[in-house]
Amino acid sequence: MKSADSMIGPMTGSMNGRMAGSMSGTYPSRVRTDRLNVPSNATMRMDQENLRAVDPAVADALAGERTRQEETLAMIASENHVSEAVLEAQGSVLTNKYAEGYPGARYYAGCEYADEVEELAIDRAKELWGAEHVNVQPHSGTQANQAVYYSVLEPGDRILSLDLNHGGHLSHGHPANFTGQIYDVEQYEVDPETGYIDYEGLRETAESFDPDIIVSGYSAYPRTVDWEAIQAAADAVDAYHLADIAHITGLVAAGVHPSPVGVADFVTGSTHKTIRAGRGGIVMCDEEFADDVDKSVFPGGQGGPLMHNVAGKAVGFKEALEPEFEEYAQTVVDNAETLAETLQGHGLSLVSGGTDNHLVLVDLRESHPDLSGGDAEDALAAANVVLNGNTVPDETRSPFDPSGIRAGTAGLTTRGFDAEAMREVGDLIHRVIDDAESEDVIYEVGERVVELCREYPLYE
Ligand SMILES: *Cc1c(COP(=O)(O)O)cnc(C)c1O
Repeated sequence: MKSADSMIGPMTGSMNGRMAGSMSGTYPSRVRTDRLNVPSNATMRMDQENLRAVDPAVADALAGERTRQEETLAMIASENHVSEAVLEAQGSVLTNKYAEGYPGARYYAGCEYADEVEELAIDRAKELWGAEHVNVQPHSGTQANQAVYYSVLEPGDRILSLDLNHGGHLSHGHPANFTGQIYDVEQYEVDPETGYIDYEGLRETAESFDPDIIVSGYSAYPRTVDWEAIQAAADAVDAYHLADIAHITGLVAAGVHPSPVGVADFVTGSTHKTIRAGRGGIVMCDEEFADDVDKSVFPGGQGGPLMHNVAGKAVGFKEALEPEFEEYAQTVVDNAETLAETLQGHGLSLVSGGTDNHLVLVDLRESHPDLSGGDAEDALAAANVVLNGNTVPDETRSPFDPSGIRAGTAGLTTRGFDAEAMREVGDLIHRVIDDAESEDVIYEVGERVVELCREYPLYE
């Protein structure tokens, strides 16, 4: 289960690597409220003085987290950094508002601004992804998937999805997730030779298993997904097709990865990954499923929507509609390619031999058979490079201490890292992996990482 995004957070946070010059425990000096363009009595203040007065413990933890993000490389492939505008929307008065229902049809009074915000989020999402119908209320990607399953499946129905060890997600039928307990799950795999989805095998499994739904879209898959091939397999057995683009929402919106919208019956996503719109989920579908999906989100699986998060989505989507976002997404992909080439240049093997998207998956077994992905994760975290140990196809260690590491470029690209900086990051990652026991190496790399972070500040 180590490869699932939701299991990563608590396991990555080694703080031992805090380097000289760390501002840990104090306010980051570069947070300048005078540039925020908000009235001085606004409740959302980046210096969080109200919070500090009420709760210094939480204020300290948030300041620490902010410094951590400033001074480390966020290379967990599912993470990104939202803008201050998205932060302000998320930390807004909309957290107070109950808005059960949908715009124009709420169960409570006083929803006029909630309606405005949700309609903006929906309209912008439609423009970004070209979907006929969009529901922006799912609290996260997992809830978005839950809404789709609940709208078209009965308990006991059959799900065909990619094995977690091969890049799938917990919410695609893992035994530890409700999907693995309520539904009958069969899995397809990547081709052991190429690391690419085994579309032929998928089709054969579909024919023998006769699924009600096929799930595509992945957490640790570095290659372009052939949505049409999966749709053809679904058509052949009269199954629904859910394309879960959680990781690649931004790449799809920007057109640097093909879109499953208009191909698959349902498209789901997380809004905090490459699309950079703050925590949350989204469901897209054709008009014919609109009512069922909406009822499945609320009241089927959720209560009141998190309207402050819906506001974050609206703002992030607006930012993603700007022409600069296309450039951003292209740079994310270019940076991943540069990272892949740099690591390969150092003799590391990558699952599938490279990347088409925002992530690389390193299989350490050939180059560093004695180093587990978990140990690599710890050593890198100590050097201020935050990524995760990850299972690889045909895993020979355990999911808790797997054989690979996964690294993404969405966060660094948001900070402005270019090809040259990515090459250096690749060199630094290799140095640590190659000498993971050396405290000197970890210290030197960590120091250089802090310098790099200062060159590419996050929230200026
Ligand atoms: C991240 C992810 C999700 C959703 O995760 P949440 O943490 O619930 O937002 C769903 N599917 C895939 C493939 C993912 O990578």
